[in-house]
Amino acid sequence: MSGRTYLGMPAFPQAARAATKDARLRANLRRATHTIRDKRARAVGELDDWALLREAGRRIKDHTLRHLDTYLIQLEERVTAAGGTVHWAADAAEANRIVAELVRATGESEVVKVKSMATQEIGLNEALAAEGITAYETDLAELIVQLGDDLPSHILVPAIHRNREEIRAIFAAKMAEWGRPAPEGLTDRPADLAEAARLHLREKFLRAKVAVSGANFMIAETGTLVVVESEGNGRMCLTLPETLISVVGIEKILPTWQDLEVFLQLLPRSSTAERMNPYTTMWTGTTPGDGPRDFHLVLLDNGRTDTLADEVGRQVLRCIRCSACLNVCPVYERAGGHAYGSPYPGPIGAVLTPQLRGTTSEVDASLPFASSLCGACYEVCPVAIDIPEVLVHLREQVAAQPGHGAERAAMRGATWLFDHPAALAAAERAASATRALHPRTLPFGPAKAWTDSRDLPQLPAEPFRTWWKQHRTTRQEPTP
Ligand code: SF4
Repeated sequence: MSGRTYLGMPAFPQAARAATKDARLRANLRRATHTIRDKRARAVGELDDWALLREAGRRIKDHTLRHLDTYLIQLEERVTAAGGTVHWAADAAEANRIVAELVRATGESEVVKVKSMATQEIGLNEALAAEGITAYETDLAELIVQLGDDLPSHILVPAIHRNREEIRAIFAAKMAEWGRPAPEGLTDRPADLAEAARLHLREKFLRAKVAVSGANFMIAETGTLVVVESEGNGRMCLTLPETLISVVGIEKILPTWQDLEVFLQLLPRSSTAERMNPYTTMWTGTTPGDGPRDFHLVLLDNGRTDTLADEVGRQVLRCIRCSACLNVCPVYERAGGHAYGSPYPGPIGAVLTPQLRGTTSEVDASLPFASSLCGACYEVCPVAIDIPEVLVHLREQVAAQPGHGAERAAMRGATWLFDHPAALAAAERAASATRALHPRTLPFGPAKAWTDSRDLPQLPAEPFRTWWKQHRTTRQEPTP
């Protein structure tokens, strides 16, 4: 049982180049993203007040982030008063260490998991494996990814890059290694695949003493955690085991239950295109005789407070991981999720990952450029994150780093030219006069990659200034 990680993955352009050559991957992605995006549009179109809900979501999140310290302290007090234990983790290593120690303290060597982006972000499964603890994913798509020794490629549908035939082959070949084997003669009918997963997972739910989850929301006023899901596996994990450990990013907090009402409308319509999600599990600390006897909440920073300090970039902390931006993104549709080199793919990954991890590595520095800036992601985002604005902001940061001297020199040259109209006019005249000699692509140099994928526009025979000088005196004024 190995575990693939995103470590050492190539920068976005190389990874995307390989992905775009995979015809089956592109077909799987196109079919799935178009289906989900159309359903989402219909679900959102049913509500006359969607724009108001979206604005309410944006304002609630901005208010909460502005007073994050206050609400986090309030949450800690309420969770503790309700019988839970709160742990603070500054980074991935600390969070993984806390969870591993908590599991070891129970004497168990297995945990069941509810789908959780935060635990993927910190590489919890691999960290637990290094401690001799096996983590079993119980979400159907995460199970497919785990059995296939694969990586998630979508926030909502982690196995979106797989079709039914591939899933059947994975189940038939790998289920026996992890527990109950797939039934003999398994077909690729969705009902048969779901039944195989159900049987395989049931023995794990009934055996598990420890569960690990994330949470979609945390309500500060009562210390309540909320998980929304579609399959019921989360309900099993959150209620059957004796110990529950939830790893949650600090930005997932909401002040009140009234605030939750807004998000329970925004999230399902934006993610699964449902009016409401099938399972909503909420718990507050522990209750004798009902659910886990021991509850631990690990509050994860891992780059979030640094992100909060950035006036433009902080808006990404509003994200509720609905994945609507992925499903409308022309770049994601062609490159797939693995090209983004992190558990957060698509437009949100391009702005979140470089802020959580920094832009010093080649892969993280490439992410803000993994976009055409078409703006479709902003249009569908239920909390109005202006992803194109953050992308441009991050591009400026990357360009200011060492190793981008050519871009900086080009921008300085352009600034000087636009500041000197006489020089600009002379340059325009010279460019027009030599237009026949201009290459359409550049054979080498820093701009080669740029011209490889774009057509240089043909320059006009005369610059606009020359044309304007000749025509402005002869322009006819309209008759009053
Ligand atoms: S950025 Fe917006 S659209 Fe994308 S996952 Fe987050 S909330 Fe959803």
